Amino acid sequence: MPTAPLEGPDEWYTVHDALWQHAGARPDSILCIGCLESRLGRRLRHNDFLDAPLNDPVYGQHSERLRHRLRPITR
Ligand SMILES: [Zn+2]
Repeated sequence: MPTAPLEGPDEWYTVHDALWQHAGARPDSILCIGCLESRLGRRLRHNDFLDAPLNDPVYGQHSERLRHRLRPITR
């Protein structure tokens, strides 16, 4: 899906370099959550993301699934 549309939900985020490389992505690659997860074969977890303002669940207009992945798991 589009990661940074002018309107509507975005999937603009940053993850750790090692994870990105593990997914076979290059530094300039752009992947939505669905594509990155299918390459990894698992769901993303909140600690896969860098500690950056962009990765705050309430930043911008993140998609529902991105906001869900960005939130720490509470038990
Ligand atoms: Zn995709």
